[in-house]
Amino acid sequence: MYYCPKCDRSISKERLVEIDAELRERFGRSCLPSLRCPVCETEFIDLEKVESGGEKLVGEVRRK
Ligand SMILES: [Zn+2]
Repeated sequence: MYYCPKCDRSISKERLVEIDAELRERFGRSCLPSLRCPVCETEFIDLEKVESGGEKLVGEVRRK
């Protein structure tokens, strides 16, 4: 799972691959190598690499 702190949105890797394919088809650019949010271009946080509590962080932000 990836998380964009600016959009406050988490996205699964599978979904990101789909979005990336669409981006490449439509705009000829790719968001996968840099792992940046296709919407705001903020770098994603890889929730699998974040220390335990990464998922919780998403919840915290969402509750506000
Ligand atoms: Zn974003």
